[in-house]
Amino acid sequence: MKSKAGIFTRLRNRWQYQQAHSRGCSRVTLRNRHPIISFTFDDFPRSALLEGGAILEAASVRATYYVALGLMNQEIPAGPAFTEMDLHETLARGHELGCHTYAHCHSWDTHPAEFEASVAKNQQELERHFPGQKFKSLSYPIAWPRPETKRRSLKHVACCRAGGEGYNCGEVDAALLQASFLEKHQSELGWVKRLIDTSVQSNGWLILATHDVGRNPTRLGCETGFFTEVVRHAAGSGAKILPVTQAWNEATVNE
Ligand SMILES: [Zn+2]
Repeated sequence: MKSKAGIFTRLRNRWQYQQAHSRGCSRVTLRNRHPIISFTFDDFPRSALLEGGAILEAASVRATYYVALGLMNQEIPAGPAFTEMDLHETLARGHELGCHTYAHCHSWDTHPAEFEASVAKNQQELERHFPGQKFKSLSYPIAWPRPETKRRSLKHVACCRAGGEGYNCGEVDAALLQASFLEKHQSELGWVKRLIDTSVQSNGWLILATHDVGRNPTRLGCETGFFTEVVRHAAGSGAKILPVTQAWNEATVNE
């Protein structure tokens, strides 16, 4: 028998999901001429660049690293976090730095004004390290965002990414792009390959997400061999593989 607490949690999650998907939306129609895949990393544990970045670069692929600058040099659930040198390396190697708020704010529990202030602080900190550098995309930490948080976030960047299990195609919400978290499907490489194939056949934009990459990943990350296989399949799928902002521009601005 299900506990009352379990039922309450499920109802609350469903309500938050519905709120996030139905309110605070900014509808945009994607007009990409080719299918697109983006690789993204949340929280930016060092291994995402040292391991994940090396695998991607071997396939001539660049990714988006969603960084909460307040986590720099910290030990985080996905392993040791990025250093200042890693940020320089990331940009020098052609990857994108995206915004994940300064303090890694819980996207639902944090008041929207506080969330927005943390987005602004992250931007200020970025410019302290890299004068003139701007975040152009954002990913929501931990949970679905509140509708007001979506509206406020989109004032600072061109598009915002959440979770989900699918890909983006046709009319999308610029404040709530879908992404599939790879670590949830580590034992289902076939499922991931089918998702890639389906999104390519639909001329979609598939955003893949994870945290760390390594031989012994955390529960938030991907095992090296699995991640390598996903990258190989994506690279041979016929899709263009682009960081999120380049993909967004290709799908909305340049067409
Ligand atoms: Zn995060």
